[in-house]
Amino acid sequence: MLQLDEHASDVGYTTRLEAGLRSFANHLRREAGLVKPEPTRPRDDRLEPGDTVLVPYLDRLISRFWADSFTRAGYPAVVLEADEKALNTGYRYASGGECLPLVSIVGGAIEKLREGGLDPARTFFFMPTSCYACNFPQFNVLAELAFRTAGLGGVKIGQINGMALAERLPQSVAARIFESNIAAGLLYKLRYRIKPYERQAGQTVEVFDRAVERVSAAIREGGDLRAALSAVVEEFRAIPRDESAGRRPRVAVLGDLYVKYSEAANQRVLDLVESQGAELVLPSMTEYAFCYYYADVRFHGDDPRHYRLLRAIESRYEKLAADLIGEQLEPDFAEGVRLMEAWRVKHFIVGETSINLGRALYYLEHGGAEAVLHLNPMFCCPGVVTASIYRKMQEDYGVPIVDLFYEGTGNPNRILIPHLAYLRGK
Ligand code: SF4
Repeated sequence: MLQLDEHASDVGYTTRLEAGLRSFANHLRREAGLVKPEPTRPRDDRLEPGDTVLVPYLDRLISRFWADSFTRAGYPAVVLEADEKALNTGYRYASGGECLPLVSIVGGAIEKLREGGLDPARTFFFMPTSCYACNFPQFNVLAELAFRTAGLGGVKIGQINGMALAERLPQSVAARIFESNIAAGLLYKLRYRIKPYERQAGQTVEVFDRAVERVSAAIREGGDLRAALSAVVEEFRAIPRDESAGRRPRVAVLGDLYVKYSEAANQRVLDLVESQGAELVLPSMTEYAFCYYYADVRFHGDDPRHYRLLRAIESRYEKLAADLIGEQLEPDFAEGVRLMEAWRVKHFIVGETSINLGRALYYLEHGGAEAVLHLNPMFCCPGVVTASIYRKMQEDYGVPIVDLFYEGTGNPNRILIPHLAYLRGK
């Protein structure tokens, strides 16, 4: 069986034919008893005292708070770069068909190992994955192959379930990472809700930058995170605002986890949208955990108390700023699924398509956004599926939904400018 798709280049077909021939040859040799298949297993190392942890770059908040969580527990941690150099290095060791986050993260890890002169045997690559309907669970397999090819074999890699960190990491690190995600989500919501209406230009960003430092220090030094967030919220609350002209058009930013938050991957699209007179609506990264916990309860009989406990922790933090972020409080994940099913998407598959369909419907049904910006890296499987379903959603709800796919080159963001001008003029 020869797999063909829309990537109809000669190179693509040649590669498939070569792969087919090699598979047949292997099969025949095995049948003839000439080769004994060797079971191959990915590395699965434990984090040990003295290891330096490599933390993938998602954005300047979440990744930093993750690194702080490791530092607090006694493991030096460095955040990878997500720049052009990392991407170029990643492409040297990838096959070319992988999605951008994988390439960028692996390239960033190789660069960091080389630049920092890190000993692979004492370096732990922290890449939690989950069973998504895409290549996400294979990140660590490719990383191991890439490290070996780059002459950095021996880097420790743990097969860590991103939804059950405590199974493989110290409990304190796992708990802090979850709280880090909540804290980052809250800081983003405060920033994007307040900045468009500030009376003095630049004040919100100043408060935001100070807030990042304060939360980072609380995590790193084992301080009271709730107290730190509470103080930060007061600073945001004190920013003089002017909403007398009403709310600006709200643009919900949905899509792939990596591109949505990473200004390196999305080429600062959030700044562009804000500069064109819109208010940004950004979901919290915690929705990923809730998607899995929801599925575990619904389909696998998991104890619902886990889900409820996480919801309670998140609500406890979000309550601090409820009067400021208003309709942006994180919804119950089940509500998005209910809306999806009511819209006749009945098969729930864990992953980004379900997350982003449910979230978009939530905003559209509850009047939480006037437009949706759907961001994804090139070759993102759930992103492609979601984009096609969004066409129908756009038609049904009469709300613009714009898809952007990034590959690390060009300037896809510029197509947004007329869309945003239209929204402003409505
Ligand atoms: S969701 Fe998309 S970008 Fe993320 S790992 Fe899967 S295919 Fe890659």
